[in-house]
Amino acid sequence: MKTLLPTSTAGSLPKPSWLAQPETLWSPWKLRDEELDEGRQDALRLSLDDQRQAGIDIVSDGEQTRQHFVTTFIEQLSGVDFEKRQTVRIRNRYDASVPTVVGVVDRPKSVFVEDAKFLRRQTDQPIKWALPGPMTMIDTLYDDHYKSREKLAWEFARLLNEEARELEAAGVDIIQFDEPAFNVFFDEVNDWGVATLERAAEGLKCETAVHICYGYGIKANTDWKKTLGSQWRQYEKAFPRLQTSNIDIISLECQNSRVPMDLIELIRGKKVMVGAIDVATDTIETPEEVADTLRKALQFVDADKLYPSTNCGMAPLSRDVARGKLKALSAGAGIIRKELSA
Ligand code: ZN
Repeated sequence: MKTLLPTSTAGSLPKPSWLAQPETLWSPWKLRDEELDEGRQDALRLSLDDQRQAGIDIVSDGEQTRQHFVTTFIEQLSGVDFEKRQTVRIRNRYDASVPTVVGVVDRPKSVFVEDAKFLRRQTDQPIKWALPGPMTMIDTLYDDHYKSREKLAWEFARLLNEEARELEAAGVDIIQFDEPAFNVFFDEVNDWGVATLERAAEGLKCETAVHICYGYGIKANTDWKKTLGSQWRQYEKAFPRLQTSNIDIISLECQNSRVPMDLIELIRGKKVMVGAIDVATDTIETPEEVADTLRKALQFVDADKLYPSTNCGMAPLSRDVARGKLKALSAGAGIIRKELSA
């Protein structure tokens, strides 16, 4: 990456209302069959255009072709029964009806590779593609076959690695694994969580990232955050192990967050995607507010390793708000670039 402070989003962007109900997670599609395929591609292009107009440097598909960041990947695997549903507690936080693992899991065909090729054809800018991480995947399922979270995580890591290698071949520059579960299951993170993540990234020559956050701005998450006290030190548990891992970039949230900024010191040497946009509020940050957060982060990360980003995905926001936030991110990064070159 030659641009100093290259901007990107952590993940999803809002979908157009003709494609899916806005401001809703797991929103059902409004189109069917070929119309849906075409609609998703059109939405991807619009989302890319929003990023381009806002001046975002590392672009993505805005997750326009998937319903949910975890389930859409799982839907394409064999060994998982979507008819057989169980209610489980996700990330110790909220109950959801999830599919059941009923046999050996496998990936009969690639999941996102065609979408990634389509995005690649639309732009010469660096592109980033998000996949769920192994631990977050097992936490969004009921396992009636392996009966071991760790065993299932290793299986998913293998399938994710196959997908990631194909995404790399399709021209993806950064593959990001979303692991919000790393902020919850600390013992498992250190026992096998980071190891399975490294397995998912094994042999990749493109850059790799892990995104760890406090979630979308939905009620279950904002209620949970209220219980976390005045300092959120969850990152402290995973960062030392991640610092020694083969993952290149760590994506974390900082804006309006109670995460003490000095925790970034624990991953010194890694590239850091600093969340400088709060996704849990409709208030659009001013460029100066974004710049302030980046300036603070620069105490703990070298400028050539700082990637300004959003705290998490923006799927639940309105498109107007999301566009405003993209522009603020870009302008805020611009302020710091100017300061650094002065
Ligand atoms: Zn997130």
